[in-house]
Amino acid sequence: MKKIALFPGSFDPFTKGHADVVRRGRKIFDEIIISIGFNQNKHKREFDIDLMIQKIEDAFSDDPGIKVITYNELTAHLAQKYKAHFLLRGLRNTTDFEYENSIAQINSHIFENLETVFLITSPEYAYISSSIVREIYKYGQNIEDFIPYKL
Ligand code: ADP
Repeated sequence: MKKIALFPGSFDPFTKGHADVVRRGRKIFDEIIISIGFNQNKHKREFDIDLMIQKIEDAFSDDPGIKVITYNELTAHLAQKYKAHFLLRGLRNTTDFEYENSIAQINSHIFENLETVFLITSPEYAYISSSIVREIYKYGQNIEDFIPYKL
């Protein structure tokens, strides 16, 4: 059976850290669906969602095993819909771990047999977070060192 994983996140913006997780994840999974979650009521994005889809697709245009979608529902329901039995997530530090731990348990409760697979961040990207990239972008700093595409 084809191994399909969702890689869920806000990706505001998608960074080199995310790209690294996806490339490495492809050694494990036949297909990775990068799933950009959005909730208009919750928070306003800094990076337009359609632009982000296009940039991520361009960054992975060499790999037909990578898809990009957006969603506004529970991640576990989305996984069910796509027959994805795996969630892919990156782990940078203990803060990520604390959060991911309970999310993973809730998700496998909602959709039985949904396994969350964690990849430890590559050290060269460990310091990159979307929130910091967003922050420096707002103040006019060039962010090209942190993203795997040209804006
Ligand atoms: P969320 O809003 O769900 O936290 P993010 O877009 O911030 O989503 O991140 C999506 C996933 O990518 C998370 O699992 C996060 O831990 C992981 N991630 C973010 N930055 C990095 C990085 N630099 N290296 C490895 N994984 C990362």
